[in-house]
Amino acid sequence: MFEKASVKLTLLYLAILMAISLFFSATLYQAYLSELEHGLRRPGNVFELEILPGLSRSIRDQILAAREQQFEEAKDRILIRLLLLNMIILTGGGLVSYYLAKRTLQPIEEAHESLERFTADASHELRTPITAMKSENEVALMDPKLSLNEARLQLTSNIEELDKLTNLTEGLLRLSRLDNHKLSFEPSEAGLIVEEAIKRVTPQAEAKAIQISSQISSVKTLNADASSLTEAIVILLDNAIKYSPEKSEIKIWVGQESQFVTFVVSDIGTGIKARELPHIFDRFYRADSSRSKQETTGYGLGLAIAKSIAEAHHGKLLVKSTPGKGSCFTLKIPVLKHL
Ligand code: ADP
Repeated sequence: MFEKASVKLTLLYLAILMAISLFFSATLYQAYLSELEHGLRRPGNVFELEILPGLSRSIRDQILAAREQQFEEAKDRILIRLLLLNMIILTGGGLVSYYLAKRTLQPIEEAHESLERFTADASHELRTPITAMKSENEVALMDPKLSLNEARLQLTSNIEELDKLTNLTEGLLRLSRLDNHKLSFEPSEAGLIVEEAIKRVTPQAEAKAIQISSQISSVKTLNADASSLTEAIVILLDNAIKYSPEKSEIKIWVGQESQFVTFVVSDIGTGIKARELPHIFDRFYRADSSRSKQETTGYGLGLAIAKSIAEAHHGKLLVKSTPGKGSCFTLKIPVLKHL
């Protein structure tokens, strides 16, 4: 599809280029012809009428014929040169146009590919719990001796799968809203945002006896969508808890560097392999180790959401990680931009 579009765009660029080139060639040709007429034909008249009136008619005719021939030859030469020039422009312009068409379409192609990948991944993630639920229900229905207890267990499992589906669709909706930049900015206290985020993840941290310590160097006010920013920090803290061993410590630090308020979440958990780091912010990306572990739930949407929140604030989400030692996520939000 994009190859066809590239060819069409190339032809369009080339048509524009050739139209311009042919227009200038025609103008140049006309200008050259009139100059030539001035240069070659007029002196002939001068010879004939003014300077050499005594010249015999046959010599004058010969001179005029020679000048006419020169005129025709010069006309042909310029025509050939202009044709050659246009051929070169056609070939060179074709190549340049194709390159430019490819470059023009590249971001659209990439966006299209990423949308296709996203749709395929989303469909896959949605289908998995639905298929599991359907087959479990079918097996249960086929069992003539299904007890009330077993039916209850089946319903509980269905609800778990439905919860996963709800989480997934909520994540997808969240991403789509962030793509449309539906945020409302207002002066927000960085300290309060962090406090609220810690409060929300406390049950998960307590379940693993993980301690979260915060350090807020001075009270910072920034122009932000407080609930989205809290959500981004909850995602970072939640991941830190998920990928950290029991009884470990997670630190969150807030500070201000020039025009940015910086939130740093660091853990001493599993860490992330260098080859996986460039992908962890992609939608639906989960590191191999996270996929294989049953206890770490998620769809690989968390960091994509956190990154979208950072970008909606014209900020950045950065990561540093060492496998086996831990990870450090830095969320940088400009203080005054996007006002
Ligand atoms: P999820 O946690 O649902 O899998 P995320 O988008 O939040 O999805 O994270 C993507 C991947 O990045 C995770 O699967 C995990 O492998 C890795 N990751 C994220 N945060 C951490 C962390 N603090 N420590 C180790 N790995 C992490």
